[in-house]
Amino acid sequence: MPQCGSQAVLMITTTPEGTATNVVRRRVELRCELNEGHSGRHRDGQHGEEWETSPTGSRPPTLLRQEDEEK
Ligand SMILES: [Zn+2]
Repeated sequence: MPQCGSQAVLMITTTPEGTATNVVRRRVELRCELNEGHSGRHRDGQHGEEWETSPTGSRPPTLLRQEDEEK
């Protein structure tokens, strides 16, 4: 079964202590691993993320995930 292969970008952000600014710490490329022609949201099980197809389809959608700084 061929895979869907739809792509998205996940930005891992963090808020450094003492600031109110989100800083991008890591950028991960996601790839849908479901079967081609599946219904519903795309899913990358390796990174545990799901996303909708972007309406335009021209560029991969960007997801944000907030992660706290290690204490
Ligand atoms: Zn998909």
